[in-house]
Amino acid sequence: MAKFTNFGDVRQTQFCVHCGGPTETKDHAPSKVFLDQPYPLTKPTLPSCGGCNNSFSDDEEYVAALIECVVHGTTDPDCLRREKVAKALRRNTALRGRIERSRREAEALGGGRLLTWTPEEERVRRVILKLARCHAAYELNEPQLEDPDHLLVVPLVSLTNDQREHFETPPDTGVWPEVGSRAMLRLVEGGAGFAGGWCTVQEGRYRYMAVGAGSAMVRGVISEYLAYEVIWGP
Ligand SMILES: [Zn+2]
Repeated sequence: MAKFTNFGDVRQTQFCVHCGGPTETKDHAPSKVFLDQPYPLTKPTLPSCGGCNNSFSDDEEYVAALIECVVHGTTDPDCLRREKVAKALRRNTALRGRIERSRREAEALGGGRLLTWTPEEERVRRVILKLARCHAAYELNEPQLEDPDHLLVVPLVSLTNDQREHFETPPDTGVWPEVGSRAMLRLVEGGAGFAGGWCTVQEGRYRYMAVGAGSAMVRGVISEYLAYEVIWGP
């Protein structure tokens, strides 16, 4: 993924992107738990206060582990593909137990097994909101400290064909991003990891798009499984 320096209004980068507090640390978005080694050369970082930065890691580990377990239909670390998640579940048996308890197996109508998982919604929401706030600030130079007007998290496979096409296609806003913002630079120069409006941080692991036009919208896909859309404004 190409790295673009933000030439936008620097007043927008002088505070924690999550709470407006001091800029004590740098927060990675997406955090490394959603990526595999070798990591991409450039990973977006955002100013964050220490409190916010430390507050997400348990939830992020949970979401990354949940996705990997759902994708492979098991919490057995030996059956997972992502080594980082397998390691986390071996180390953190409480986490594995928690995810295991959210798993339900039932006889499907017409035979076979039906496997369902019940995510801890509040934790998923916190992680998604964190990611979206970071991408909005990084790409659009528009930090969003308010609660979003819309936040949707769904498995990509649950979308109908029409919904999927809508989701994958950047909205045609007709409005140009802020001059000097990364979104503007990508629009003009393109670059590695950027195609069809999406920034691919790591193939198969994490991609996102950010569109700003009066309102700000961020969409993302984690592990090509979990899709989200967050919107501030109408
Ligand atoms: Zn903060």
